[in-house]
Amino acid sequence: MLTRTFGRRSPWSPCTPNGFRIRPTAKQLTSPGGLSLVNGAKRGFRSYAENLHRDGPARATRSPELNSPLSGLRTFCFSSNARNHIIPKSVIVEKMDPSASQYGNFDLVKKVKLDYAPIELQKWTSRKTGLSVVHLDCESPLVKGYFVLRTEIFDDSGRPHTLEHLVFLGSEKYPYKGVLDNLANRAFSNGTNAWTANDHTAYTIATAGDEGFLRLLPVYLDHVLYPTMTSNGFVTEVHHINEKAEDAGVVYAEMQGREQTPGDLMALKMQRAFYPDGSAYRSETGGLMERLRVLTVEKIREYHGEYYVPHNLCLVVVGRMPTSTLLDVLQSQVEPDILKHGQDGPPAGWKRPSAMMGETDRYDELAKWTNDQWVGLLKRYIIDNAPVIVLGKPSASLPGKLETEEKARIAAQKESLGEEGLAKKVQELEEAKKEHERPIPQKMLTSFPVPPVSSINWIPVKGAWNDSKTALSSDKQLQAHVEKDGSDLPFFVGFHHAKSSFVTISALLSTVDIPPHLLPHLKVYLNAFFSLPVTRSDGAKLTHEEVVKQLDGLSVGYDINFGQGDLFQNLIRITIRVEPRRYEEAVAFLKDLIYGAEFAKDRLEVTIAKVQQSLPELKRDGNTVLCAVSGDLLYDETSASKASDILAQMDHIPKLAQKLKDDPEAVISDFKQIRDTLTKPEGVRFSVFGNVLDVEKPRSPWKVFKELPSAVLRPPPKSSESLTDLGKRPAKKAVVVTHPSIESSYGIHTSAAIQGFNHADQAALRVACEVLDATESFLWRFIRGSGLAYGAYMALDVEAGHLTFNVYKAPDSFRAYEEGRKVIEGLVNGSIPIEQAVVDGAKSSIVYSTVRSVSTPGSAP
Ligand SMILES: [Zn+2]
Repeated sequence: MLTRTFGRRSPWSPCTPNGFRIRPTAKQLTSPGGLSLVNGAKRGFRSYAENLHRDGPARATRSPELNSPLSGLRTFCFSSNARNHIIPKSVIVEKMDPSASQYGNFDLVKKVKLDYAPIELQKWTSRKTGLSVVHLDCESPLVKGYFVLRTEIFDDSGRPHTLEHLVFLGSEKYPYKGVLDNLANRAFSNGTNAWTANDHTAYTIATAGDEGFLRLLPVYLDHVLYPTMTSNGFVTEVHHINEKAEDAGVVYAEMQGREQTPGDLMALKMQRAFYPDGSAYRSETGGLMERLRVLTVEKIREYHGEYYVPHNLCLVVVGRMPTSTLLDVLQSQVEPDILKHGQDGPPAGWKRPSAMMGETDRYDELAKWTNDQWVGLLKRYIIDNAPVIVLGKPSASLPGKLETEEKARIAAQKESLGEEGLAKKVQELEEAKKEHERPIPQKMLTSFPVPPVSSINWIPVKGAWNDSKTALSSDKQLQAHVEKDGSDLPFFVGFHHAKSSFVTISALLSTVDIPPHLLPHLKVYLNAFFSLPVTRSDGAKLTHEEVVKQLDGLSVGYDINFGQGDLFQNLIRITIRVEPRRYEEAVAFLKDLIYGAEFAKDRLEVTIAKVQQSLPELKRDGNTVLCAVSGDLLYDETSASKASDILAQMDHIPKLAQKLKDDPEAVISDFKQIRDTLTKPEGVRFSVFGNVLDVEKPRSPWKVFKELPSAVLRPPPKSSESLTDLGKRPAKKAVVVTHPSIESSYGIHTSAAIQGFNHADQAALRVACEVLDATESFLWRFIRGSGLAYGAYMALDVEAGHLTFNVYKAPDSFRAYEEGRKVIEGLVNGSIPIEQAVVDGAKSSIVYSTVRSVSTPGSAP
């Protein structure tokens, strides 16, 4: 099912130097399209990767995070003695008997022990209120909550989506905008989030450790079940008209940035073609702009009353805690309020969804399917089925038409409002803003204790090196395990052990010696990497199909990309993840992929065509173009990321395609030269991460890299080495790019900051940025809160030495900039106070980001 989601926070992330990155996966390599826009995950400390699925054109409906606790983790010993403060003693029901089918108000619906992961899943439903809870008890330092309601709508008013936004503006017990996220920050989280799809709305939270989670749970549910939904909240968060008679508001700005995008246009067409009248899947859940302009807060309140009821709410909680503790908190701190509101259980005839619980049974059934049954399925649903095909064609005239129509509409709106009407609108907005600026009583914040950092269970990682003499620090057991396997290798291999079902091997190759005229080829090199014919070391020749097939059979995942996270973009990183028993095969395959690939003309043609096809869509993405324009100013021709950005590629790819046609040998020789340069021994590193202790021979398999002689390793190249003069001292330069097919505007403002990972001011600057950036903190309140932009953030890049102020999806990005400037000046001159609670919240939020980045053995290095 094609589902689009709409959300609260953006999928935005600060620009990586290259603005967009490629991540060819097995799936993409076999499907047209080739490239995907992968928003950079984290720059410095702040991560928005978790929001990718929530809001953007991404179609994924499952959070990648939801899967992470399931991926074979270590055992933690859990210790928290603060629990008794979270739950009043008098309400702890009893120690839960593992075989109990009742606990307090709750009845056990189902209990499943997954056989593919060390996880137990339980579902409980309250017989008093109808509230359902699914708890997945698994090992992870993070605790995650997904609070899900079944919601649908039969028109394009956007009520489910606008309601999702209003939920965060205050609740019956906490009637202040921002209190929830301020408390979430204190609870070791980086704020709350949510998304709305055609058939459900989900509210999310993740905290480091369970203590903050359990404290926040009742506060969060008060917001979901009893939000204030004020008229003033509607004005700023959903829709208003500003002094220029333009329409604005957070949701309005969000939908303005989406409605005319090819993905949304086509998805809506598809929905209308596919589903019959009366189906909720036909509707634009996010809200069409013309309908948002006439929506009222009363309509949203009605919608809330109908759908946001306890028996339509299921809490999915993933994390290590006794289920009884979770149920105790609900029973003692949530259910009494529900009962006070007279919501005692489901009405007669109410049917609860139970699809999820049957899922594992269905997989068992599928495991028994025969070949014929699978072929029958394909035939029935793919071959014999009547498809609906929506073809999206770029239109040269549409942008102009949209612009003209919008101008005319605004002019007419101005006319019909008249001076008096407009003044009234402005006054309305000012009043609404004033309400949001009402300070949260400090006591409401400070009475919520920040949990101790010691309560978090970190994933221990052990390190060892191929050459013990150069090791910075090492674990004796692991070092001995490596050393007993043969002799030293002449090149760098780092080993890191964490308890995991898998082991990941990586090659890190430096791009610095590639001549600038060949750097733009790298994008094609990366995209082609896993789909070229390969001659194996034993002489066997594999076609590109065989390469893909064998890789899929060998590994659980493979990837090639620039850098590590958003750092070290002048490195290429190739990774293969396998079960420990297949480690040796993986190392040998990695070697042959690097050295044995044949740059066949036909394969290069296919890859170039795929890259070329992906460019128009990237060019229509405001943030991608913005990052490329900015990168072009800041980085010189030695930057691999700049050479791979959308602007460089728009120019380069057609030329490369032509050259391949005219002189294929020259192009093939270019790619060979790239490989020779990437494999210069002074720029090559290998890393092994995961269950290294279960790998019988961790070191000797690397001997297959016979081509690598001993060499003095150079430090990894840093983006600061590729700065232009302007990049070194950004000042007095402004570039405005018009982009008629985008209705929003974007801005990035760069200044020089600290450079280097060990700078003494780094910690303070990180906290300062977080104080500004945190959900519901200064930039959010002043810029987003007034509807000036969907997002505005500071980002610190200590590798390049830049501090940036970023505006994402704004009706007018310069106005957002001006507001940002006012905020910073106010903070500096003291006219806007900084409370200690805000600083505490920022620090806690950084604790969360740090824990999150090392929350699975795969992410812990
Ligand atoms: Zn939204």
